[in-house]
Amino acid sequence: MESEKYMSVAPVTSETKIGILGFGGLGQAAARVIAPKRELAWVAAADRKGYAYNPAGLDPDACIAASHSQGSLGYLDPYGTLSSSSIQEVIESESVDGYFLALPNLPNTYMASVARQFIQAGWRGVLVDALKRTSAVEQLLELKEELQAAGITYMCGCGATPGLLTAAAAIAAQSYTEIHSVKITFGVGIANWEAYRATIREDIAHLPGYDVETAKAMSDAEIETLLEQTNGMLYLENMEHADDLMLELAGICARDRVSVGGVVDTRNPKKPLSTNVQIQGRTFEGKTATHTFTLGDETSMAANVCGTAFGYLKAGVSLHRRGIYGLFSAAEIMPQFVK
Ligand code: NAD
Repeated sequence: MESEKYMSVAPVTSETKIGILGFGGLGQAAARVIAPKRELAWVAAADRKGYAYNPAGLDPDACIAASHSQGSLGYLDPYGTLSSSSIQEVIESESVDGYFLALPNLPNTYMASVARQFIQAGWRGVLVDALKRTSAVEQLLELKEELQAAGITYMCGCGATPGLLTAAAAIAAQSYTEIHSVKITFGVGIANWEAYRATIREDIAHLPGYDVETAKAMSDAEIETLLEQTNGMLYLENMEHADDLMLELAGICARDRVSVGGVVDTRNPKKPLSTNVQIQGRTFEGKTATHTFTLGDETSMAANVCGTAFGYLKAGVSLHRRGIYGLFSAAEIMPQFVK
């Protein structure tokens, strides 16, 4: 019986060991989100210069201190290792059931190359990303069969947008027989851009006159000059965001009905506007209506991205334990709340 099959699956418990790859703004926030949780044990983290591993669990304060004061987790005494191929070493040498990939996607092919590294290493488990660009998610889609054959359950586009707001759109769509539009508008407030370098660089890549390559090539000083000119604000419209592809693949609406834009204030943690998604459609009675899901202004970008990523990591672990591998998006799977 299906229910017996389900019951025979081991529950997600603190035996489930997880890691965080990328230990910048989101990676460090993820450490703070996950540390008090009982169901997932945080045992590994990596940055560009090294990694830390402790099978008994890592301490977020100690990891963040090592990262801030010495520039890498590799200096964490006694659990750190300095390495210029930290991801490869962690994959090959440490025992971890699932990873949150809090890595920059610069160049735009980087996350897909990390997924390939996991496949080639013969690693089995759950991977979750917070990828943003449609073209980046398309590269992951091409790996779907390889991920499945490798025994990897990959949860893609599981941050805030794409992620939480895309999932909310998928739920809201249920009231309608046809979806006219999905409009995502986000407001992000951060105290300084250095705390989220990759996020800001990748956002700049959406501005008119910029692309991923030009944004990647900009020095920190050039970014500061640009932000000086805009008074710290970034106004973003019609972004290439994978919410469109994810909602299309989930059968909800054509991608051209989905639009994403927002405002980022890099000098003030207060959100410049309330993040929301509006889903307009027609009901079976022929009425046109709009559902709006608005995030509380007090929730930071980090809270909305990291909470969602771990919710999907837990969902991915349940799928993996049932032998379900391959590529899934936030629009087709429900996140599970991590206790
Ligand atoms: P960041 O620049 O603050 O940190 C990046 C981290 O990755 C650093 O610790 C760096 O050392 C590490 N890193 C870089 N290259 C590495 C490598 N080769 N090996 C190991 N570690 C490496 O980045 P951030 O601002 O936290 O953003 C991370 C990602 O999250 C970005 O791609 C951003 O676009 C994405 N993001 C998604 C959402 C969403 O809602 N979906 C929201 C915000 C950010």
